[in-house]
Amino acid sequence: MHILCTICSDIVSSAENIYATKCGHLFHHHCLSQWIARSKTCPQCRNKVTSACMFRLFPTVSSDATLEDATTLQSRLDDAQLQLRQHRARLSDLEDKVKAAADKEAASMSVRATYY
Ligand SMILES: [Zn+2]
Ligand SMILES: [Zn+2]
Repeated sequence: MHILCTICSDIVSSAENIYATKCGHLFHHHCLSQWIARSKTCPQCRNKVTSACMFRLFPTVSSDATLEDATTLQSRLDDAQLQLRQHRARLSDLEDKVKAAADKEAASMSVRATYY
């Protein structure tokens, strides 16, 4: 899950100070405090917001850094399958070359054998 700060349109990571307005919208602390200094409305829904009604959030996040959503995993699977197909094509190409070289060698050996 990616939370987007609509003020700077950057991802809000759990390592940063996350602040929520009373209307429930989430922003970076530095973005929201700068915004509040200029405007007393929520950047997202235009509800009235003051510095007194914003509060910090402490999300508990999974420590599993490899946790990814289905879309990301699907596209990585597609990439891997494409690469696999390319490798397979290259492999059969190389197999053909090896076979051709072996045939050539066998042919030249039989030529030599009949020569002697
Ligand atoms: Zn921000
Ligand atoms: Zn809001």
